[in-house]
Amino acid sequence: MIIDSHTHMDTGNGLGIGIENSNPKELAEFRNMIREKKLGVLANASCVSEFEAFETIEGAFISFGIHPWNTHEFCKSGKGENPLLLDEQDWVKCIREKLEGVKEYFRGAHAVGEIGMDSVWCSCNLMLQRELFIQQLEIAQSLRRPVVLHTKGQEKAIAEILLNYSLKKLVHWYSCEQYLELFLEQDCYFTVGPNYQTSNAVKKVISTVPLDRLLVETDGISAVEWASEKKIRVAEIPDVLKGSVRAIAEAKGIAPEIAERRIEENFYRFLGI
Ligand SMILES: [Zn+2]
Repeated sequence: MIIDSHTHMDTGNGLGIGIENSNPKELAEFRNMIREKKLGVLANASCVSEFEAFETIEGAFISFGIHPWNTHEFCKSGKGENPLLLDEQDWVKCIREKLEGVKEYFRGAHAVGEIGMDSVWCSCNLMLQRELFIQQLEIAQSLRRPVVLHTKGQEKAIAEILLNYSLKKLVHWYSCEQYLELFLEQDCYFTVGPNYQTSNAVKKVISTVPLDRLLVETDGISAVEWASEKKIRVAEIPDVLKGSVRAIAEAKGIAPEIAERRIEENFYRFLGI
């Protein structure tokens, strides 16, 4: 089965990361495809309402975590522009209380994520992002859950933080042309994003990462639309993923069917199931 190892699905309530124009029908379409085993997913829940919606989808695996873009929740300004209104002691306490309140969702998820830091698409204070990231890594460590990582612009800092954690780590859609080796040294898994034809960094992931550490992902409909510059339907998602599998197969000199099977094995090994 083709598996989307990191995706966002629109629950139709306008919440969630990367959901701009909410589509109430999207989740039902995903639900049917997953039930019919046309697609497997590690669906990313960035809030309780997403978790509860994905939990009702038979056959879906779920990652749960507070995305770095949501760090602004912890700023008094509410926009991440003036986080120093809270002093560091308050951040630590405030984040701990928030995470404690959703502990059962971390416990109920197959993985903790996506978590990390971002200095490219997010203007939230990096010290705050770092605190939120580290506290979630601690939760993953205590619950023995693998982690899904968002590393945009903070690749080196994140690789250094990760050295303190002996977790299974999945670097989602790595798109930096540097520091790949810092993650390879830590035996990380990597997802290949849908821009494998145009991004040199993604091409490097395909050629450099060993086959037993490679996965494929879409990061959700809106990310595929961003990468392909056209509208995408839910029914097209398996073909998008199969394009990434073919690129991996070609780079590794194996048949696409074998690559698909090996990638599926990687997915279950990463989740420990
Ligand atoms: Zn994502």
